[in-house]
Amino acid sequence: MTPFLRNTALGVALYALLAPAARAEASVSEAGMSDEAFAYVAGTILSVFYHELGHALIDTMDLPLYGPEEDAADTLAAVLTHEIWDEEGARQNAEAFALSWLASAAETDLEVEHFAGLHSLDLQRHYRQVCLFYGAAADTRADFARDFELPEDRAAGCADEYASADHAWGAVLRGLREAEGEEMVWTGPADSGIATLLKQEVTDLNGLFSFPVAVAVRMEVCDEANAFYLPDEKSIVICQEFVDYLVAQAEEMEL
Ligand SMILES: [Zn+2]
Repeated sequence: MTPFLRNTALGVALYALLAPAARAEASVSEAGMSDEAFAYVAGTILSVFYHELGHALIDTMDLPLYGPEEDAADTLAAVLTHEIWDEEGARQNAEAFALSWLASAAETDLEVEHFAGLHSLDLQRHYRQVCLFYGAAADTRADFARDFELPEDRAAGCADEYASADHAWGAVLRGLREAEGEEMVWTGPADSGIATLLKQEVTDLNGLFSFPVAVAVRMEVCDEANAFYLPDEKSIVICQEFVDYLVAQAEEMEL
């Protein structure tokens, strides 16, 4: 696929455009964030949005699965990040998402429920994202694999892992580029830096792809730090609490 090179650090740029007063008013949790913290939150939220879009495409395109759906959705996040962002933006998003799994792993005491659950373990999700991002351009991203201490045994196969990911999701995305179809619809407010970023992302993805169903995307308060794809209403929901959670993590990491 010819990459459509997205401008770098879009979120940071958008955030900088908001006057300080607007920043303060926009969202209690986002107020006063450093650019690095915003990049962490933005990159993670975009990757989570891509993950939920994976669920939406699996549902609305009736895509076959040859493994766990949650892993497949994570794979789409890696493929979209590589395909539609320029190198600087892609690295920012990939670093943020990889870091978020490390942070989540550090907060989690593993219990039976984690092993029995639908999702791979946080550290597995971390290394998978690192491997796919590195493997998508192994010639130029050795530093990325090194920075995240990807073991050499795993690194050796990452180009092949990305080739598999591209064979699956890359092919789906190429089909969506050529398709005539529907647009995603932003139905949430755009009253914070992150919500503005997501709204813009919906617009940008509509410029690149056509979708089989007009999936609605919104950010809302939902009493848990999470994000969902709701198949009954063909909607993606990013919870405000999830943004707050990432902002707190960024503070914790002193970004
Ligand atoms: Zn999921």
